[in-house]
Amino acid sequence: MAKPKRSETGISPTRSENYAEWYQQVVRAADLAENSVVRGCMVIKPWGYAIWENMQRVLDGMFKATGHRNAYFPLFIPKNLLEKEAAHVEGFAKECAIVTHHRLIAGPDGGLIPDPDAKLEEPLIVRPTSETIIGASFAQWVHSYRDLPLLINQWANVVRWELRTRLFLRTAEFLWQEGHTAHSSSAEAMEETERMLGVYETFAQNTLAIPVIKGRKTELERFPGAVETYCIEGMMQDRKALQAGTSHFLGQNFAKAAEIKFQSQQETEEYAWTTSWGVSTRLIGALIMTHSDDDGLVLPPCIAPAQVVILPILRDDDTRPKVLAYAEELRRELSALRFGDRAVEVELDARDLRGGEKNWGWIKRGVPLRVEVGPRDVEASAVTYARRDEPAREKHSAGRAQFVAELPALLATMQRSLFDRAVAFRAEHTHPVDGWKDFEAFFTPKNAEQPEIHGGFAMSHWCGAAACEERIREHKITIRCIPLDVPKEQGQCVVCGQPSANRVLCAKSY
Ligand SMILES: [Zn+2]
Repeated sequence: MAKPKRSETGISPTRSENYAEWYQQVVRAADLAENSVVRGCMVIKPWGYAIWENMQRVLDGMFKATGHRNAYFPLFIPKNLLEKEAAHVEGFAKECAIVTHHRLIAGPDGGLIPDPDAKLEEPLIVRPTSETIIGASFAQWVHSYRDLPLLINQWANVVRWELRTRLFLRTAEFLWQEGHTAHSSSAEAMEETERMLGVYETFAQNTLAIPVIKGRKTELERFPGAVETYCIEGMMQDRKALQAGTSHFLGQNFAKAAEIKFQSQQETEEYAWTTSWGVSTRLIGALIMTHSDDDGLVLPPCIAPAQVVILPILRDDDTRPKVLAYAEELRRELSALRFGDRAVEVELDARDLRGGEKNWGWIKRGVPLRVEVGPRDVEASAVTYARRDEPAREKHSAGRAQFVAELPALLATMQRSLFDRAVAFRAEHTHPVDGWKDFEAFFTPKNAEQPEIHGGFAMSHWCGAAACEERIREHKITIRCIPLDVPKEQGQCVVCGQPSANRVLCAKSY
C-alpha cells in the first residue's frame, strides 16, 4: 500500500488515520489554544481568540437586532438558589465547583490551607449556567405585564467540572453567551425560543459555513429543568454529530422557582414564561472539524481573523524595496474593501523567512487567500494567489486591478464553496436506516484500521418510548433530535417495531 502523502505543515496523522489526534494537531499547528497548568482548562491563544471575537461580534449584532440587551450577573450562585429547581440541580450537581472558604492561612507544613474560621455560611457554586441567579434578578425587575418581554443576554465564562477534556470541545471552563428572557404568555416564549434557534441556524450556516439540522430534543436529552429543548446539529468530518447551539423553552418552571411574577392586564397575578439559549467556544471546535484538511485549519472568509495574507518574495537587495512598496500598496487597496459586515482584513508578512516556511505557516493557520508578489508580478502589475479551499500547490494569476476589484466576490465564492462542500458531505453520509440489524451495521466501522469511521447520520423510526432510546444509547449512539422539517411517515420503531409517525436523527456525537 502506498504511504499516505504527508503534509508539509508537519501535521500527522491525517484525518483518515486518526481523526482525534489530527484534531489536536490542527489546533496546535494553527496556534489556536493549548492546555493550561490547570487541569481541564484551556488557554485560548490570540489567533483562536480572534475567531471567538468575530463570532461574538456577528452574534451580538444579531441579538441586538432581535431586541436583546447585554447585562452581566455574578460568577457565584448561592447553593440554595441552585436547589430551587429540582430537575435543574440534579442535572448539574455532578459537575459543580464549590467555594467554601474566603481566606487562606499557613498550615502546619508551611503551605496554605483554608482558614477554618473563614468558612462560608452558605457555599457558593461557580456558575455552570445562570438560569437561577438571573431568575433572582428578574424576580426583582418584573412587576407588571408592562415590564415584559424582558430580553437579556450575557457574555460570560462558565464552569462544568469535566474529567475527560478536549480543547474547545469539552473543557472545565469555557466561554459562551447565554440569553435569558421572560414573557407574559406561553406562546410568546415559544416564539422567542424558535426565533433564537433560527438566529443560531443563520449564524452557523451563513457565517461559519456549517450546515445544521434544526430539531427538538427528546425528554432524555433535554436541558435540566426545561419543558422543551431545541438544538442545531452539524456533521463533523468523522461523521459524528456536534450540537452547535441550544434554545430552551422553560415554561414556568424557573419562574416558579425564582418567583418571577407579574400583574396581568386583567389584574391577576401570574408567573412569567421564560427561555434561555446559548452557544459557546465549542463552535470553534465545530468550525475546525467541519472544514479543515490534512494540511491544517481551513477558515471560511466570514469568520477568519484575516482573509488575505500578502507574501512578498524578497530574493535580493535590488528588487526588495520595489517588491515591498508594491506589497504595501496592495495591502492598502485590499484593506479599503468591505466584505460582509466588516473591512477586509489583510496581513502583510515581510518577515525574513524562507518563502516555503512562510507559505506553509499561513496554510496551517487557515487564511483563505495567500497572495505572492515577486519582482515579475511588480513588472507585470499582477499577483499570484492560492485559495485555502483548493490543494496547497494550486496557484492562480491575475492582473492586480482585476484581483482587487473582484476580491469580495472571490471571498463570497469561497464561503459558498465551503458550505456546499459540507452540505454534500453530510448528504453522502445521511441515510434512512430501518430495522435493528441494519441500524447496528450502520454504526459498525467497515475498516478495522479506521475504528472511528462509521455510517454517519441514521434517519430512523422511533416509537417515542424512553426504553427504546436507552437501548440506542447503550451503543453510544443518541437520538440527536427530532428534526423540525421531518416529513410525517408511518414506520416501525428501529428498536421495538411499534408504530412511529416520523423518523428521528440518530448519530454518534461529541
Ligand atoms: Zn420503540
